[in-house]
Amino acid sequence: MYTIYPNQDKKSLFLKKFEEKAKKLGINSIAYTKISPKIATEKDLKYSNAIVMTIKMWDEIIKESPSEKAKDMNSNLYKKFKEIAFILSKYLKENGHCTKLVIPNEKLLNLPMIAQKAGLGYIGKNKLLITPNLGPQVKIAAILTDIENLPFSKENEHSWVKNYCKECKKCIEGCEEGSLQNHPSNLEKSAFNQDKCTASTNACSYCIEKCPFYIEGYFQIREKNLG
Ligand code: SF4
Ligand code: SF4
Repeated sequence: MYTIYPNQDKKSLFLKKFEEKAKKLGINSIAYTKISPKIATEKDLKYSNAIVMTIKMWDEIIKESPSEKAKDMNSNLYKKFKEIAFILSKYLKENGHCTKLVIPNEKLLNLPMIAQKAGLGYIGKNKLLITPNLGPQVKIAAILTDIENLPFSKENEHSWVKNYCKECKKCIEGCEEGSLQNHPSNLEKSAFNQDKCTASTNACSYCIEKCPFYIEGYFQIREKNLG
């Protein structure tokens, strides 16, 4: 496989510039990982290296009750995120790389899983990525690329979230549609029924609004629980 940057310093500099550009455009966090077959929902992925990005979900969407109005605001956020991801993908292409965009709602990849693998956060019982800066208040997108030797995350420092979620079920209690089902001891076995979830039809976000990681914040909870 052809590597654009034989010189690692040159690549680091390019990625630094790329990350600065992303931040200026409104990207909240960014990390890199390799796609494994377990994470890909489609087998034939062209590139297995991924740049994973999160953007803040606007407060007004979460504060608005599930409705057409909330759905419109959510659509505007997706549109904005798509535009940003497109600009970043174009920037990579202009610098000689091949890319494929994976935006939220696309079924190509399990985006929360890929973001967890990249170390951006940990998936909670609400099946959303819980992140340090914004709790579950994020949308995720990825750019698949042919850039080799990206600085992949080797470990995930947010896995303690799993234990916290074991003792909490506020998202489950807050879900009026019954999409989330609790498993008392195993977070992975807590079920999510996509067919019942109305996040895409009326921008329901009760499982974000009720989550202590949204209300109190990640660092406050970590301090209380891990000291
Ligand atoms: S978005 Fe709404 S319906 Fe879907 S899981 Fe969360 S609370 Fe339930
Ligand atoms: S509401 Fe509680 S159980 Fe659900 S994701 Fe948040 S911390 Fe975990």
